[in-house]
Amino acid sequence: MSVFAQWGLRRVINASGKMTALGSSAVAPEVASALAAAASEYVIMDELLRVAGERIARATGAEFAVPTMGAAAGIVLSVAACVAGKDPVAIESLPDSRGRPNEVVLPKGHSVHFGGAITQMIRLGGGMAVEAGHANLVLAEHVEHSITPRTVALFYCKSHHAVQKGMVSLPEMIEIGKRHGLPVIVDAAAEEDLKKYVAMGADLVCYSGGKAIGGPTSGFICGRRDLVEACVLQYRGVGRAMKVSKEAISGLLAALELYEKRDHKAEARRDRERMERLVERLNTLPGLRARVIQDEAGREIYRARIEVLPESGLDARQIIAHLETGDPAIFTRNHYANVGILDIDPRTLLPGQEDLIVERLREVLKGRERA
Ligand SMILES: *Cc1c(COP(=O)(O)O)cnc(C)c1O
Repeated sequence: MSVFAQWGLRRVINASGKMTALGSSAVAPEVASALAAAASEYVIMDELLRVAGERIARATGAEFAVPTMGAAAGIVLSVAACVAGKDPVAIESLPDSRGRPNEVVLPKGHSVHFGGAITQMIRLGGGMAVEAGHANLVLAEHVEHSITPRTVALFYCKSHHAVQKGMVSLPEMIEIGKRHGLPVIVDAAAEEDLKKYVAMGADLVCYSGGKAIGGPTSGFICGRRDLVEACVLQYRGVGRAMKVSKEAISGLLAALELYEKRDHKAEARRDRERMERLVERLNTLPGLRARVIQDEAGREIYRARIEVLPESGLDARQIIAHLETGDPAIFTRNHYANVGILDIDPRTLLPGQEDLIVERLREVLKGRERA
């Protein structure tokens, strides 16, 4: 029986991707045993942090790295490191940064809400977000213009949540950072390529361990050694409220081992074929039209996109409500529900769960006919 069912909780079919609201991630058995093994032993945390940091540095090609409780914690610690550096008094004063430079410049289209607001994470680290340009147009000149003597870092969000068009590019941001002697922090929470942004010259890159990598709730910051060392020191400051557990680190390292061995191209191909088969079945349901689409941020992720047609007599939000209130509860990816679209993400879907989704949709659409 499910560990959650014993408390009377409903089963979940997750077709939405890695979502904090659904428990973030469900890990492979190897990762689960690494978590459990770490739970029953003591370790010197400073040593574990260092060894894990070196292991992550190898995986990312960075000079150094530090595990975190997630990418959001990574943003907080990175900003804190840029504001307080290694000064113990400044570290324990944060998020109060009065009297010190604290401005963090980010493209306005990157000032997003990923489930929490980027601007709030920046504030938690003692920074003050300065949004450059406009929601849909940010030029290198806008970024340049926002830099003042109080600027401590530039921030770039690489994510499907961010506006994709009209934004200054990361190489441009890095070039501006170099010219002004400012570190560039990249939020790469859900990105699959662990080396790309470090190789491009970003100074601190924050990843989520629970997303592409397939680890438990965890994450890391990788990048320039002096800056990462300053991030580690923030665990004596604001980082105390987001301390990373030995269990999370152990699970993260196990997931990283698996991640490096996986054949990502082959997985993407299998997922795509699986979604093509699902789309064929969905297209037999009246009132829906389905097709396979690639991830909007250009990652190798293929999803089934379902358009809810007027003849279904329902709108996307009503269908979502039906799916989510059932048992098992079915969660689709709903970023475009406002325009009548539901997406099915294969990565979190266990084998055979497509059948349950097709069946439930058939019932929902039939129920409408009877009504
Ligand atoms: C998920 C996400 C985060 C937060 O990551 P956690 O590991 O859940 O803390 C931050 N930024 C972006 C763009 C995200 O997608």
